Amino acid sequence: MLRLPPFEYLAPRTVDEAVDMMTDNGWGAMLVAGGTDVYPGMKRRIFEPKKLVGLRQIEELKKFEVNGKLTLGAGLTLTRISTHPEIINRYPALATAAGLVSTPQLRNMGTIGGNLCVDTRCTYYNQTEPWRQALTYCMKKDGDTCWVAPGSLRCWAVNSSDTAPIMIALGASVRLVGPMGERSIPVQALYNNDGIEYITKAPNEILVDITIPDATGLRMTYKKLRRRGSFDFPIVGVAAAVRLAEDGTCTEANIVLGAVASYPLKATDAENILIGQKITDELIEEAAKIAFKPAKPLDNTDMGHPYRKQMVRVYLKRALQEVTGLS
Ligand SMILES: Cc1cc2nc3c(=O)[nH]c(=O)nc-3n(C[C@H](O)[C@H](O)[C@H](O)COP(=O)(O)OP(=O)(O)OC[C@H]3O[C@@H](n4cnc5c(N)ncnc54)[C@H](O)[C@@H]3O)c2cc1C
Ligand code: SF4
Repeated sequence: MLRLPPFEYLAPRTVDEAVDMMTDNGWGAMLVAGGTDVYPGMKRRIFEPKKLVGLRQIEELKKFEVNGKLTLGAGLTLTRISTHPEIINRYPALATAAGLVSTPQLRNMGTIGGNLCVDTRCTYYNQTEPWRQALTYCMKKDGDTCWVAPGSLRCWAVNSSDTAPIMIALGASVRLVGPMGERSIPVQALYNNDGIEYITKAPNEILVDITIPDATGLRMTYKKLRRRGSFDFPIVGVAAAVRLAEDGTCTEANIVLGAVASYPLKATDAENILIGQKITDELIEEAAKIAFKPAKPLDNTDMGHPYRKQMVRVYLKRALQEVTGLS
């Protein structure tokens, strides 16, 4: 049985207290919300914090504010997000994406903030300490080689968040609070295309809330490919949000792919060929073909990467058929 190492748990009551605790404890500290990624990572010794700064008692992180737009506290659980009537009615694809994360038990604990900040994944990294030691550690933790692409100077671990693609497709932004004050950035700007430095926020910045603009008239969906329907990380995720004029012309298209790169990948070329055009089966086929080209999954998650690349096309086609009513 894998055991947690000893650690100290700090329980701030406010965001400012949490920022101070992270700042005072430097690299030895890590934030934890639901802990559904942090604790398994500690058991595998891929995270080795001496102190955890727990966010569960901070009321400000549980905000739920509807005011044209929607503001969600980072500490709201995925169960709350996936079952809230306001979200189901106004942002159904977000409810779907949150409801497809892992299992009911983990969704009861796991938070939306933790899901957006969740670590990148790789077959050679999400393993126990003896497994990684036997192979010789890789660049993401304790080693200097990439086992997926030996010779590569960067890590290709995969962003596997289910909610990040749809948040980006909906134009959401996050509010971060750190020692220098607060800033708001688009969700897309939260990510780097790097498996190690995958997140742009500083370790002592707290993701406080997420604001999603009014989505009236947007047709949206999130499609997820995984091995087991009951629970599994995505091996392809497709978020699509489009707006159609009365005559069927596409006036807005947002397409974001998950689990095919170290960051959520915006399929800009596919978006561009839809905008200004009447949607037809042929156009959807064309958009799906274009979107799958920049998706370059490597052999570091479940199922073969050539298959995953092909499935980007299939899943995007299904997503576009659904949102345009052409299925
Ligand atoms: C068996 C299993 C299956 C899973 N399947 C999926 C899946 O299908 N899809 C998926 O997306 N995820 C999956 N996960 C990962 C995880 O459960 C979810 O991503 C979950 O939403 C993480 O939220 P959390 O609150 O538990 O995060 P935690 O584990 O507490 O934290 C995750 C990361 O976010 C940081 N963090 C958390 N909150 C904040 C904040 N407010 N501000 C700044 N940083 C913060 C932490 O420091 C840590 O780096 C799975 C996990 C397990 C164990
Ligand atoms: S992509 Fe390479 S460096 Fe990154 S976790 Fe996998 S094996 Fe390690």
